[in-house]
Amino acid sequence: MTQLKLFNSLTREIEPFVPVHQGEARVYSCGPTVYNYQHIGNMRAYIFADTLGRTLQYKGYKLTHVINITDVGHLTSDADEGEDKMEKMAATQGKSAWDIAAFYQADFEADLARLNVQQKQHPRATEYVEEMIEWGKSIADKHCYELESGLYFDISTVADYGKLARAVTEEGEGRIEKLEGKRNAGDFAIWRKTPEGETRQMEWDSPWGKGAPGWHLECSVMGEKLLGFPFDIHTGGIDHREIHHPNEIAQNQAFCGCGGLSEARNSGANIWMHNNFLVERSGKMSKSSGEFLRLQLLVDKGYHPLAYRMMCLQAHYRSELEFSWEGLEAALTRLKRMVMGIERLKNGLGAEWSPTTLDWILSSNEEGFEGAICDDLNTPRALTEFEDLLFNKKIKADEKVDALRRMDFVLGLDLFELSREDLRIRPVSAEITEDKIEDALARRKAARAEKDFATSDAIRDELAATGVEVMDGDPLGWDWKLA
Ligand code: AMP
Ligand code: ZN
Repeated sequence: MTQLKLFNSLTREIEPFVPVHQGEARVYSCGPTVYNYQHIGNMRAYIFADTLGRTLQYKGYKLTHVINITDVGHLTSDADEGEDKMEKMAATQGKSAWDIAAFYQADFEADLARLNVQQKQHPRATEYVEEMIEWGKSIADKHCYELESGLYFDISTVADYGKLARAVTEEGEGRIEKLEGKRNAGDFAIWRKTPEGETRQMEWDSPWGKGAPGWHLECSVMGEKLLGFPFDIHTGGIDHREIHHPNEIAQNQAFCGCGGLSEARNSGANIWMHNNFLVERSGKMSKSSGEFLRLQLLVDKGYHPLAYRMMCLQAHYRSELEFSWEGLEAALTRLKRMVMGIERLKNGLGAEWSPTTLDWILSSNEEGFEGAICDDLNTPRALTEFEDLLFNKKIKADEKVDALRRMDFVLGLDLFELSREDLRIRPVSAEITEDKIEDALARRKAARAEKDFATSDAIRDELAATGVEVMDGDPLGWDWKLA
């Protein structure tokens, strides 16, 4: 058995995974703010979290995994500035903030399903406001102070504030003090009071007046309520290492009355993990500028969602990944090749083979794969190990099928269920129907059989004019594709 090792952002070291509760793994992943569609960069964060969850299961741990939904409290800046993202979008669309949240949560969950993310329970921040108020009450005296606009956390009241971000000064990164009366630039809201004479769509009564919780509070509260402190692993995108997670950690230290961060567990979790960003050639991915890269856009252009999962797996989660359509095309081709390999493997198993529940006794055939995935989730190497075994002609199909199914479980690519046809998706811009293409190809085949190459070429040109490329002798066995 290979020891699972993970990079802990808190210590900046690769550490062995030692569960808090024997045989169990408890993971919390910061979820989306549901004020808009998610872009595929956001989805990289959940593909990473899901790969982590699957790996923990592969290693035999019983997994409890929470991905929360932020439906209140997140301002347009991660520090306490700007407008409330939910209320702003509600005003733009002329809908209630609650409707906005429900709509974009459903869209997010549909994307998770298309990317084979296993986790299906998504607690919402608004379901935990009472608990957040209780939490605030328990830390208010020792760690907070009130200003006109609400209750603020004084970061100087906990030891090692900002260790996760490696911020050297109390300025932190990107901290600009705007609010009059803040004791430290990095102090943040626990409760934001509704300004006098205004009403918010989402507001609750509290000891600090009517208002809404600060954004960082929800993850502390849901993490503690749903997983207990300390839990095993907390994940998020690398941007959260700078503000959101240091603030969560400070709240956790205050709540537990515990000491500094030389003991990782005082932070609330033993390991903090962060995925790096998906970037566009032009720079940071954004929902407002340039092409809004949603999963649906990829599908509209004819790419199967799992080609995007493949693209993510081809990079290590701690490396920046640059999105390009060529890269996505290459990932789709690799996926097709694997699906074909699995189809051939299944044929080699004879008619009696049918998938049963996975047996978790690992075989020597998967040592390379296990070594790669246990090495801080080295998915690029794990993919190569998978292919080496799949295409190894010296090992018989029935000797490797169980190992490959377990490996596919970790990769989450559904290779045993997908067919080549599933991977061929019609771009929305394509006007010709599949029936018409097949019909034209049949006519072309008949013409070629008669050696009537003029007709055959004419049909080929007609198809090309409608955007269909005929692929004679394609190594992956496709007759045509939509260009
Ligand atoms: P948000 O809805 O802004 O809280 O983001 C949801 C998740 O996506 C968080 O874990 C972010 O850190 C992560 N994230 C945001 N942008 C990107 C990106 N371009 N690449 C990877 N992860 C991202
Ligand atoms: Zn969070």
